[in-house]
Amino acid sequence: MTDPAFALVERAHSIVDDRKLSTVAHWKDNHLGGLAIGHMPIYVPRPLIEAIGCLPVALFGGGDAIDIIRGDSYFQSYICHIPRSTVELALSGDFDALDGVLFPSICDVIRNLGGMWRMLFPKAYTAYVDLPQNFDRDIGGKFYVLEMRRIARELQERGAQPLDPDALRECIALENERRAVIAELDALRRAEPWRVKASEAYLIVRAGGAMETKSHTLLLREFITAVQQRTVRPIDNVRVVLVGSFCEQPPFALIRALEKSGCDIVDDDFQLGMRMIDGPIEIAEGEDPLDALARAYLDKGQETASRYIGDLIKGASLVRRVKECNADGVIFAAASFCDPALLDQPMIEAALTKASVPHTSFKFAENLGQFSVIREQAGAFSDAVKLWGAAS
Ligand code: SF4
Repeated sequence: MTDPAFALVERAHSIVDDRKLSTVAHWKDNHLGGLAIGHMPIYVPRPLIEAIGCLPVALFGGGDAIDIIRGDSYFQSYICHIPRSTVELALSGDFDALDGVLFPSICDVIRNLGGMWRMLFPKAYTAYVDLPQNFDRDIGGKFYVLEMRRIARELQERGAQPLDPDALRECIALENERRAVIAELDALRRAEPWRVKASEAYLIVRAGGAMETKSHTLLLREFITAVQQRTVRPIDNVRVVLVGSFCEQPPFALIRALEKSGCDIVDDDFQLGMRMIDGPIEIAEGEDPLDALARAYLDKGQETASRYIGDLIKGASLVRRVKECNADGVIFAAASFCDPALLDQPMIEAALTKASVPHTSFKFAENLGQFSVIREQAGAFSDAVKLWGAAS
């Protein structure tokens, strides 16, 4: 019998691989006047973009599918790969369906890319999204609301609809629904990783980056229903949490290679933007939904390398996650030259070591072609954890 979940994964894969953004162009054909607004990782307030009649489109570079010819000439050699492939795609016309791009404040590379974009594509809308690093509602909260108002106003000047609080309330409700279904999928992955492979969950969640929230929720629900009907047998793999890949994504084949090496990835930060708000965005009675969106980011934003954590201890939340997932160990997989991830690595590893959580690490580039060494390393890690013990 054919596996209905597999057809959904294939559909998601074709959306993820659609580097010319034909699904986005199709959306625009069906939404005359609607703007498609790209955004770099990790997170932008997608409900805000949808509330003003635009389609937010998550951009994750070119993966291993393109040759970089012009993109390299804009950057020094010792930075990560994603800005090069992003420029390459744009210069090749692959992003022609986009009306603008948002550059969230996660690192200097993304900031510089935003500045470069402004010079390369002066007619396109380009905005730097300065996410708050002060989590006081009266300071960072007010600032973030002003940032969101500015973006909505600038997009309105480009043809988007005016920001209507009721439309935003509706989009927040849709986002909450999507988030709840992703949480359901994550719980299923943790409970029965042999039923839902991490690589499948990755594609199903990532496809939503170029879809309306409502359609994505439908896809997620269909997938969960389909995998629940699978006849599967438990496999005795090692349960790992993978972190460090929150921006540039590893090649898809590398995720598959890790699975084949005996690791069940039961939690990860691949598509962190989709999970950035931990739990629903709650709107209090009579509250401006924009304030609620800001409050959710301040109070419920996931800990990640680009977010200031004050006096908290780096790695402590990861140790908690490992325990919550009942994981056996951690794989730290960061893009080469990813400063935010690599600056965190020693502190994260120290926290894992202190908590007796086995861990290993490697670096990748989105266009990495050979993973035999990484696969062997992951296989040896999985064997070592099986032989000598998991996280206590
Ligand atoms: S991979 Fe790291 S360094 Fe590169 S753009 Fe992303 S966060 Fe910045």
